Amino acid sequence: MKKWIDLRSDTVTNPTDKMREAMFHAVVGDDVYEDDPTVKELEDYAADLVGKEAALFVPTGTFGNQLAVFTHCKRGDEVILGEDCHIIAHEVGAAAVISGVQLRTLETKRGMMNLDKIEATIRPFEDLHWPETGLICLENAYSDGAVPSLEYMKSVKSIAKKYNLPIHLDGARLFNAATNLGVPASEIVKHVDTVQFCLSKGLCAPVGSIVAGSKEFIIRARKNRKLLGGGMRQVGFLAAAGLIALKEMTLRLHEDHENARYFAEKLKEIPCIYLSETPIDINMVFFKINQNKLTDEEILDLLLEKGIKSNGPEAGYWRFVTHYWISKEDIHYVIEVLKKILE
Ligand SMILES: *Cc1c(COP(=O)(O)O)cnc(C)c1O
Repeated sequence: MKKWIDLRSDTVTNPTDKMREAMFHAVVGDDVYEDDPTVKELEDYAADLVGKEAALFVPTGTFGNQLAVFTHCKRGDEVILGEDCHIIAHEVGAAAVISGVQLRTLETKRGMMNLDKIEATIRPFEDLHWPETGLICLENAYSDGAVPSLEYMKSVKSIAKKYNLPIHLDGARLFNAATNLGVPASEIVKHVDTVQFCLSKGLCAPVGSIVAGSKEFIIRARKNRKLLGGGMRQVGFLAAAGLIALKEMTLRLHEDHENARYFAEKLKEIPCIYLSETPIDINMVFFKINQNKLTDEEILDLLLEKGIKSNGPEAGYWRFVTHYWISKEDIHYVIEVLKKILE
């Protein structure tokens, strides 16, 4: 099989050999009966790892976020969140369809909303006309590759506490954020009530996310997961890979971050390439290609001919994502190909 260099996302990561082995040998049972020991092990391990009482295995990050919104809120509630976060930008309007909530978006800078604006946006029960604020959603790492600070997380928590509001964290790349901040993931998660994180992105598991929170929350979330059609049977096969994702793959993410910075250094050497000014916090490099010779589609086709997959630019910026299956040699190769295409 042809080896592709796939820079589109870290979602393209295939499972490792060790994961395939663990999946083959996994002890499984009917998880709707809570009879699957491997799922139990994963959920217990995940809850401990992020410092929450309980956790639940769900099929995807989108499922996990929407399940959290659905479990926290009642219909007509308002949810405060960043205007360009994943729940707004990439979840098909699910919060409106599933939970019937109203999303109240605020501008973000490097993944952070203005704290005064958050507080000014919260609407209590009193006024007859107002929807009630039901939830604040944060995202860390943010979809644009930025890692909001612990200070920010702490400040949002103190606002939420004042108004007795829950916070849900979309932590699809939680362990990338923790790696960047140099803290255990629990140091980020302690500032929120619930968290969703993906096992399937840079951590290489084939499928799955975790939702973690209080025991009481997870009991209700388990029932809502069933309602949404996410009660899965012998799903320990996937949990087996998820355990390796959490125990081992979380420890190597710094390699992807180093490779992203290395990529940036090399891209800089190409005359028509301009890197985004924002620092590289995780495994993503953003850049512009300023030339008139080729269209974006032509560049993509030429890359593809050389075995390199990339998405086209979004809002003018190209994004390369590093991950387990992208080595230093791959980076050198991509740089050589780009130099030839663009010279
Ligand atoms: C990928 C991602 C998700 C959703 O994950 P899926 O498994 O693709 O549904 C949610 N939030 C963020 C920030 C993501 O990057």
